[in-house]
Amino acid sequence: MNEYQTSASQYDLFKATGNYNTVAFVEKVLGLVGEAGETADKIKKILRDKDGVIDEHDKVEVTKELGDVLWYVASIARYLDVPLEDVAKMNLEKLESRNKRNLLHGEGDNR
Ligand SMILES: [Mg+2]
Repeated sequence: MNEYQTSASQYDLFKATGNYNTVAFVEKVLGLVGEAGETADKIKKILRDKDGVIDEHDKVEVTKELGDVLWYVASIARYLDVPLEDVAKMNLEKLESRNKRNLLHGEGDNR
């Protein structure tokens, strides 16, 4: 994951790192929201227009959008000087902890 993060950084048009108080950083946050929306829109249209049946073309198109989401996640983490591997590990640790405590359902970021 860290190799991906490093490789992905070459496509940051701002060529900036390590400073989250910049237009470049905000552009990444807005980009993440935009790409998440594009992913949701693709799924919405599959549900609306194709009775929810996902064919191979749809899978490719949704996968492309997920890649765009991943790029922005990796970029935001890079601006925060956080390895992408740490993002993934912390997420799994959080989910494992919740699962052990039977708290996968419910609300609250830090349950
Ligand atoms: Mg996209």
